[in-house]
Amino acid sequence: MRIVVDGQKLSANPRTTKDLLVTMKSLARLLNWQTLYDPNKEIIYVSTSKTNAVSTISDLLMPVLEELESIRLQDKIICIDAGHGGNDSGALGPSGTMEKDNTLSIAILLKEKLENNGANVIMTRSSDQDLSYPDLSRNDLLSKRVTIANDSDADIFVSIHNDSFSSAVASGTTTFHYGNEQAIELANHVQKALTNELNTNDRGTRFASFYILRYTTMPAILVETAFISNPEEELLLASNDGRNKIAESIYNGIVRYFKV
Ligand SMILES: [Zn+2]
Repeated sequence: MRIVVDGQKLSANPRTTKDLLVTMKSLARLLNWQTLYDPNKEIIYVSTSKTNAVSTISDLLMPVLEELESIRLQDKIICIDAGHGGNDSGALGPSGTMEKDNTLSIAILLKEKLENNGANVIMTRSSDQDLSYPDLSRNDLLSKRVTIANDSDADIFVSIHNDSFSSAVASGTTTFHYGNEQAIELANHVQKALTNELNTNDRGTRFASFYILRYTTMPAILVETAFISNPEEELLLASNDGRNKIAESIYNGIVRYFKV
């Protein structure tokens, strides 16, 4: 939800909550300001005759907004899976960057954002760690991730990867699910947030019978954030700014999924 006071947008950009709307309306009534809520655009328009209204309303609302932010994802358990790790570097970019490093950095940034909003985050790995058991097949490598997710009692599971193709031209973002209705919804929100923010080619949300999607017991998605094999997207994936945008987008998709 956005708040516009006398034509000026407040810097805060909170999601709609009924509490905030009620707080906002009673505050406006108290101060004799006019309010109009546009439910389609999720904007509250506030009209006031006071010239310093923007700072006044910010001062009054910011503590409320901050408190709402900090508890937005309270009680939610989110399992984040940074793809690959250790000896398994994942795909390599044309200039030698590794998928395992990108996925871990994005996962750590996402963890921070989720925790700042009250969520309980479980990571399948928090370092450059190999999740495979020695001498076992690739399925067993993935099963450790599934075990961590299922044991965590998580509400959702988000696996982060980079896509790769033999042609450097291939580009874009894809989010996979295993057909579960809630997983599709989560995938749609995350995919939309990512492609809007990154301006990447929207390859859509797709069904996939990946082991980690099939055997996790909660709504689960696997995000192919962008193509590490594409020189331009390799830079995006390896840069702090790009990683932060990706984490922020996945975070926004999760928040929209939980409707908080
Ligand atoms: Zn991967």
